[in-house]
Amino acid sequence: MAVEQLRRDVFDGSALRADFPVFDRPHRSGLPLAFLDSAASAPKPRSVIEAVADAYGHHYANVHRGIYELSEDATARFEGARRAVARFIGAPSDREIVFVRNATEAINLVAFSWGRTNVGAGDLILSTQMEHHANLVPWQQLATETGARLEYVAITDDGRLDLDDLRARLAQRPKLLAVGHVSNALGTINPIEEVSRLAHDAGALVVLDAAQSVPHMPVDVTRLGVDFLALSGHKMLGPSGIGALWGRRELLEAMPPFMTGGSMISKVTLEGTTWAEVPLKFEAGTPAIAEAAGLHAAIDYLEGIGMDAVRAHERFLFEQARDALAALPGVRLLGPESADEHAAVLSFVIDGVHPHDVATVFDHHGVAVRAGHHCAQPVMARYDLPATTRASLYVYNDLDDVERLVSAIRATQTLFGTA
Ligand code: PLP
Repeated sequence: MAVEQLRRDVFDGSALRADFPVFDRPHRSGLPLAFLDSAASAPKPRSVIEAVADAYGHHYANVHRGIYELSEDATARFEGARRAVARFIGAPSDREIVFVRNATEAINLVAFSWGRTNVGAGDLILSTQMEHHANLVPWQQLATETGARLEYVAITDDGRLDLDDLRARLAQRPKLLAVGHVSNALGTINPIEEVSRLAHDAGALVVLDAAQSVPHMPVDVTRLGVDFLALSGHKMLGPSGIGALWGRRELLEAMPPFMTGGSMISKVTLEGTTWAEVPLKFEAGTPAIAEAAGLHAAIDYLEGIGMDAVRAHERFLFEQARDALAALPGVRLLGPESADEHAAVLSFVIDGVHPHDVATVFDHHGVAVRAGHHCAQPVMARYDLPATTRASLYVYNDLDDVERLVSAIRATQTLFGTA
């Protein structure tokens, strides 16, 4: 279906499903698949799958090194993907985009390279209680290895960042604040413009984990005012195995390499080595060449819909789902109530039923959700929960999926006698 037809505020997600071959696959329930686990990883549209196949089939050679036409073609396409990522997140230059495997690697790159150079014993690093482990464990490791202190900004009962606590901790002038844009465990959208301003006023750099925001809403690094941003391709309809780190150029230029070897050097002698310019300084070894083509196609697909339209669509579906869940006794949704502060990630508990059982029953109804701690165990501990069930929505979802979610909850409560 031509995505141009969908340039409206709220579009029919089901019409897009024709673009995603996975929805042709029969589900063992005999029902159409209601896929509500895009926050973990998103299905791929045909254009992305074809772009990867086309890259391997017709444009494949190693990049940056070959002095022959096919390699020049592969290099031009690889660098074209880098430009597309830069444009998509409002980066001032494509030289500030480093291709990595995923958001986890992007954050580790900053923690190892910037962190080990700039953080020392006694320095303070701030993260938050809301983070995915990918934006928490690397900072714990940095603190352990350097003797730095690590503190976590608190979260409120309704799942917001506690800005008073942030201000109080910033008064200690930390070196860095590592914060998520959208929580994968609560759905909270953090007020990053304000958070960045506060952090910069206190002299701290801001590392933004944008794994759950870049796929779902317009993101502009300049407007947000952050210093580093991490994203994963596979959550934004692109292939797995590719992600990106954006960093301010002067920061990237001052940082030592993360990994070393081929591709990232300028000159190697037996006595020593000089580094390539950024971003290649951080891209040791052969990169994910065909995956970059797939990521470029994913960006084209999302831009074809328009990120404002993607956000409006998800916001509408979230509001419908939130209101439907609120009307169900024994169901509690985590995170802020307002759709302004809540992405289309619904993390909830059903009284008396473990989330793993919930997900199993849902699967029998053709509804795919995530159950567990969502790689955010401190969030579960904060709310004294072992786990939650999480339904996350994307472009191919529609009101029918919301209704399927509600029916699956009712069926679960009936089965467990908790209705
Ligand atoms: N940050 C957030 C908020 C996430 O939800 C995830 C994945 O679920 C990640 C980071 C890590 O992404 P990846 O596994 O692609 O590195």
